[in-house]
Amino acid sequence: MTPDAAPAPVSAVIIAVGSELLTPHKVDTNSLYLTEQLERVGLAVRRKLVTGDDAAEIGDALRQALRPGELIILTGGLGPTDDDRTRETVAEVLGLPLAEDTAIVADIRARFAARGLEMPDLNRRQALVPAGAGVLGNRRGTAPGLWMDHGGAIVVLLPGPPRELRPMFERHVFARLAERTGVSGIYRRVLRIAGRAESAVESVAYPVYSAWQTADPPIATTVLSSLGQIELHLSTRAPRPEDAERRLDAATSELAAVLGRDLFSSNGSALEVVVGDLLRRHGLQVAVAESCTGGLVTSRLTDVPGSSAYVRAGWVAYSNEAKIAALAVDAGLLEAHGAVSEEVAAAMAQGARSRAGADVGLGVTGIAGPGGGTVDKPVGTVWVALEGPGSARRARRLQLPGERERVKFQASQAALDMLRRTLLRLQADPG
Ligand code: AMP
Ligand code: MG
Repeated sequence: MTPDAAPAPVSAVIIAVGSELLTPHKVDTNSLYLTEQLERVGLAVRRKLVTGDDAAEIGDALRQALRPGELIILTGGLGPTDDDRTRETVAEVLGLPLAEDTAIVADIRARFAARGLEMPDLNRRQALVPAGAGVLGNRRGTAPGLWMDHGGAIVVLLPGPPRELRPMFERHVFARLAERTGVSGIYRRVLRIAGRAESAVESVAYPVYSAWQTADPPIATTVLSSLGQIELHLSTRAPRPEDAERRLDAATSELAAVLGRDLFSSNGSALEVVVGDLLRRHGLQVAVAESCTGGLVTSRLTDVPGSSAYVRAGWVAYSNEAKIAALAVDAGLLEAHGAVSEEVAAAMAQGARSRAGADVGLGVTGIAGPGGGTVDKPVGTVWVALEGPGSARRARRLQLPGERERVKFQASQAALDMLRRTLLRLQADPG
């Protein structure tokens, strides 16, 4: 088909087919991948749905989606067995007769032969091609994909296994779509902010980003609150990645100016990654003493590849005895102030720092709940303390909302953020 005759799609619908996707055990991830890829060719997903391997359901979903200008991608159900219905159902809905493609049969037979096996007759079903359809080769499996132009719509069938679908999309689908849409891609930037509530972010960010809504092309901004951080998602359309990058850089600088040090990442990096970069840059090593977070701070720090360069040690000192024995916390402090106190958090940070011979020590102690709270120290009370580098000393009391897991995560976030802010000060004031 010539490009003239081929209409450009304007939006997309994804239909994930597979009865397993309707159970609690398996989630549709293909559509996430496809959505991201489609954005790169300027196509927004208008609707996505999941159906079982059921001809009536697949047929309904396809009929509803069909309209000129629509790209409809169906994934899954291209296997050789009777419960794989996608190919036959799509052919029927589009009124296209199926015929066996001898080249595909030969291909599948060769795949089996390469493993010393004979092709079961069942696999011939995978060689059935609707009249006029383009065949998309599958290097990693037996099911080829299919591309059909139909009444101004495009219908694409891809295999369900992600390891087959992804290379097939990249090799055979992406370029064809890009050619038709002229690639006015959508580009994104994720900014992350710590230590500010959503409303506080909105109040300084809105005056900045609201002006972009009427720019040409506009930059769309969404504010998302997630545990322990706020995210600002910027997105814009541009014909070339360089143009998008330049505009998003400028927009990010404007936001950075009003958010100050609360903005910890302008490229979507996690806090532990940002902290790791700072530690590495300053050539400093950290040691962590944790009580209520149960090792989460250390775990997050060590999620980052290469963290052995700056993570010295971590202790989970849950009981008073462990705090005394492992971290040399003074028993008198525990008695006088309780385990959840500024004094004990600081002693833990100090103990971790000196026992590990690290530059910086972090201490976290708190009440994650649901039990253990008192009037003075309700559930969610957490002390975070830092010792070093040099004579730096900080401590902060937090009152965190939510249940146990949420308290633990937010406490870990506060500890990492305290370290980040301390390291940023070093940058501003070296020595
Ligand atoms: P199929 O093409 O239907 O034979 O798919 C085979 C396997 O691919 C399934 O058992 C799943 O493990 C996987 N799969 C199918 N659809 C999806 C999907 N939408 N997201 C992630 N994995 C999938
Ligand atoms: Mg299936």
